[in-house]
Amino acid sequence: MSEHIALTPAERAAAPITAETVIIGAGPCGLFQIFELGLLGLSAHIIDSLAQPGGQCTELYPDKPIYDIPALPVCGAQELVDRLLEQAKPFHATFHLGQEVTELKPLADGKFEVATVLGTRLIAGAVVIAAGVGSFQPRRLALPGIEEFEGKSVHYRVRSASDYHGKDLLICGGGDSALDWTVALAEKARSLTLVHRRAEFRAAPATVARMRELVAAGKMQHIEGQIVSLHGAQGRLDHAVLQGNGGETTLKVPVEQCLVFYGLHPKLGPVAEWGLDLERKALKVDTEKFQTSVPGIFAIGDINTYPGKKKLILSGFHEAALAAFAIQHHLFPQKRQFLQYTTTSPIMQKRLGVVPADAPAAAE
Ligand SMILES: Cc1cc2nc3c(=O)[nH]c(=O)nc-3n(C[C@H](O)[C@H](O)[C@H](O)COP(=O)(O)OP(=O)(O)OC[C@H]3O[C@@H](n4cnc5c(N)ncnc54)[C@H](O)[C@@H]3O)c2cc1C
Repeated sequence: MSEHIALTPAERAAAPITAETVIIGAGPCGLFQIFELGLLGLSAHIIDSLAQPGGQCTELYPDKPIYDIPALPVCGAQELVDRLLEQAKPFHATFHLGQEVTELKPLADGKFEVATVLGTRLIAGAVVIAAGVGSFQPRRLALPGIEEFEGKSVHYRVRSASDYHGKDLLICGGGDSALDWTVALAEKARSLTLVHRRAEFRAAPATVARMRELVAAGKMQHIEGQIVSLHGAQGRLDHAVLQGNGGETTLKVPVEQCLVFYGLHPKLGPVAEWGLDLERKALKVDTEKFQTSVPGIFAIGDINTYPGKKKLILSGFHEAALAAFAIQHHLFPQKRQFLQYTTTSPIMQKRLGVVPADAPAAAE
């Protein structure tokens, strides 16, 4: 099984984790990189700012079919991610999820220090940036003075549902997250107001129907309109002023906690600040090693650029295979490299766990 790490703040502040390789980004290309490194006997830690692996496939189009993955005539985007996770399982990568990588710096001994927003620090022999179109950030509520409330009484994700029990709750948005949490919390909150600027919802029809039943039963209210202002002091909310569509109605509603689900947008963010050569918001790499302008730092998938680059999943898979060989050479320059087939290589089959670990030794 792959290991998902949830360190305490004290553990994160302690000594850095030593890693053979670190992959930044757990989209389809980062996940396949675990596999390609694993085949060559290299272990990986993988970090993503999202709470789950899968990148764009999981975040933007999980239910859509993909038709151009070799040998899979049709494959759902989330299904592809699940299959990649399954394929990478034998290599026991360590996942650090829900934390953006903010720093990447070369050290004097040729290694790299990687640090996340939560304070996790890793020292790696090589780094693969598989950051796609950047890390996904929640779209924020655009109201003056919003910073005062963010993280205290205005939230863009639910960490613990019980935080909202018994509270006057305002939920903003019209997609699956907004409607799922509305339905889940309507009977737990003291009061619940859902505000969405259009009559149509993007959420699953069954969830929308359930929300309408809750409104009819007097368990919550739904306003078709927008938030005009939030009021409170020292980060604690007291009430919101909402305006119905058409502009004629304004309504004051009590609010202690506000959940905003306006979707996510990708932000290149910290990747642009690591001193690597960029071209139109992508990392320049060569097409032999997929190495960036800093030896030992590689880039694969949508984040990289080179002549003829096509932002397709299958391009990222090819890049991951070649980068793995280049990383092995970077870490072990004396080691002879030769191509082996998974079909016939006993050492690869042992690594994959398809032949017993105590099978007769095979030269690599
Ligand atoms: C609607 C849609 C349909 C598509 N259909 C197809 C298709 O049919 N066929 C096809 O080949 N391609 C398709 N694509 C494109 C495909 O999804 C991308 O090419 C692919 O997701 C790229 O994978 P990736 O691993 O490089 O990056 P991503 O999937 O973007 O994953 C990158 C990950 O890196 C993380 N990250 C970024 N910066 C940081 C940081 N600083 N710290 C921590 N984590 C970070 C992000 O959170 C993200 O999870 C489609 C895209 C969309 C939007």
